[in-house]
Amino acid sequence: MHSNISIFVPHVGCPHKCAFCDQNAITGKQKLPHKEDVERACLQALGQVDDIADTEIAFFGGSFTAIPREYMLELLSAAHKYVGEGRFRGIRISTRPDYIDGEILDILKSFGVTAIELGAQSMSDEVLEANERGHTAEDVRKASRLIRECGFELGLQMMIGLYKSCREQEDETFSEIMAIHPDTVRIYPVVILKNTRLAELLESGDYEPMSFDEVLSLSARALGAFTEAGIRVIKCGLHASEIVEQDMVGGFYHPAFRELCEGLLYRLNMEALLDKAVEEGRLPENKNAVFAVKKGCLSKAIGQKKANIGYFEKAGFKVKMTEENDMGLYEVRLLDELEAAHRYSMYNKKLIKRSRVCGCFYCKKHLPPMKCRAG
Ligand code: SF4
Repeated sequence: MHSNISIFVPHVGCPHKCAFCDQNAITGKQKLPHKEDVERACLQALGQVDDIADTEIAFFGGSFTAIPREYMLELLSAAHKYVGEGRFRGIRISTRPDYIDGEILDILKSFGVTAIELGAQSMSDEVLEANERGHTAEDVRKASRLIRECGFELGLQMMIGLYKSCREQEDETFSEIMAIHPDTVRIYPVVILKNTRLAELLESGDYEPMSFDEVLSLSARALGAFTEAGIRVIKCGLHASEIVEQDMVGGFYHPAFRELCEGLLYRLNMEALLDKAVEEGRLPENKNAVFAVKKGCLSKAIGQKKANIGYFEKAGFKVKMTEENDMGLYEVRLLDELEAAHRYSMYNKKLIKRSRVCGCFYCKKHLPPMKCRAG
């Protein structure tokens, strides 16, 4: 299983001031790692990870290629010693799109970097400008092209619910990222931290964030569509540990955001099949429905605190779910009555043997076993 040795590199003296970023909070609380720290982390991981050939050294924290050059080289040369045959698979870095060019990519390649993630955040120039990112959507396109041409794995990070971003801008970002088709994506709903421009705009009433449900629905759409297109979604929502919790004054945060998105995706897919079955008159009178989902995904399909079961119950449906091999993630299949009855019998043999009534697959009635004429 893939794993990362994560090394956080605060962006030292960043010349930018993005509207959502509180550099003081980040740099004040994080110690700058040096070559000894990188070596220690690698040595420690060598004895701990299950599969070193599928492990990468990951420099996270923002704009790796924009930190002072000497410091960047110090970190890279420390990590490079642990990359290659019999050692870790490679090095991942994340950076801004306007700090990528041919020279930087040559350096990264020579030190064993294999994957580059760009903070795209939005593909609408209007939103990028309103959030004071200091780069354009064209910078993202250009950097993505260069990264691909040089044979690196490409990752894009997007933020949902930024200042001045409405449905139209979110659609633009989603479609452009789909078109670029990166290898990986991180989906971050906006979290508003105090001492940031976004916090000021929120307080003054200029920034009216979208509703949580809208951001959830946009994130779920992105998660589902990227997954279906073969783009690996490596993060959806912030980890509890990543957020400066006491500094959050607004925005969209939930400790299990990805699970919420997955539950919503399953619900929407089941709803579409139910609507179609009702329209075509294929659902039994008692409105019982059994769905098959990918093996291992039952809890995602049921939703947090059985939210999806409750949702359908309110709409008058009695929904059950069963697992099946060879199904895609988020895919659902509505079983026909006979198949559902067979499944139920297969998995509930003991219960059926104990039961004083049985259900007939032929006449579809429930009756005591002795009265069943079909034998
Ligand atoms: S988010 Fe913006 S301001 Fe913050 S460190 Fe990155 S580039 Fe600098």
